[in-house]
Amino acid sequence: MLAQDIGCPVVFPQERCSGSYTRLRKSRWAIKGLARAREVYEISGLGMNNSYELHQGDQPLLISLPHDGTEIPQPIAQRMHQHALSVPDTDWHTGLFYLPLAKALGASVIRPRWSRYVVDLNRPADGKPLYPGRAETGLLPLVGFDGEPLYRQGQEPTQAEQAERVESYWRPYHQALADELARLRQQHGRALLWEGHSIRSVCPMFFDGQLTDLNLGTADGHSAADELLTNLMRELGQQKRFSAVANGRFKGGFITRYFGQPETGVHAVQLEMTQVSYMDEAPPFAWDPERAALAQAVVLDLLRTALDWISSDRGATVAASLADQRRGD
Ligand SMILES: [Zn+2]
Repeated sequence: MLAQDIGCPVVFPQERCSGSYTRLRKSRWAIKGLARAREVYEISGLGMNNSYELHQGDQPLLISLPHDGTEIPQPIAQRMHQHALSVPDTDWHTGLFYLPLAKALGASVIRPRWSRYVVDLNRPADGKPLYPGRAETGLLPLVGFDGEPLYRQGQEPTQAEQAERVESYWRPYHQALADELARLRQQHGRALLWEGHSIRSVCPMFFDGQLTDLNLGTADGHSAADELLTNLMRELGQQKRFSAVANGRFKGGFITRYFGQPETGVHAVQLEMTQVSYMDEAPPFAWDPERAALAQAVVLDLLRTALDWISSDRGATVAASLADQRRGD
């Protein structure tokens, strides 16, 4: 099978992409197929530039995983406390979770190399808060989710360093996001951006009690068509294992809000998932294959629902009517 038949990116050596993938259209096939997909990804590895890796698919769907990175450059790491170096606030294993799903669907995937402690890709470059008045970690976080300082006393980054990190680590990812969405729009006329996140289910800094398992966000309807969100929630209503909410505590971060412009044909949806849905939340944050397979089957159904919608005539019609509305504003 040729590499392009399975949606392999041009940036990776062709021999690394060989394999007998077929697109998976049904979850019952997917669960079996996912183990194989994961195996192939782990063996093949992916091309990596300094800041991110991009897998280009052939469908109008881009999955972005901005908190998947775990590395910290040495000059920054040596200024941090020991507990920060284990990067506990990572969206653990989101690459492992989503890569086989993306491959099964022919979707593109982008994920960073560096930890959110270096720079948070899901915050605006000017450092403005996402949820004014609520606790959150910033563009260059100074504390972790447990409130403990990340840097040794007096070693915190300066304003000048903030600007440097934005240029070195933040901008390349955002430029790649913009370029890939432009490519998909040019090829398909529209595109769907899926922001894949995960967080521990109990995190008093951000919310009381235990978080709903699956939190869909469309910035209260600004980043994606309501019809798409309705279809996704209807799909979630088909299963009983995971609790779900739309535009609850997590409505979509900076990437969702910035790139989701339905009137231009780009719809963005964030899924914030509890980590207990697919892994152990206590260190060493182990992946749980059984739980993960169940969660992956549900998320695969969501991604397929989203892809079906964006690929359909409805996806085109809604974008056109939103553009008309905007012209009329
Ligand atoms: Zn995240």
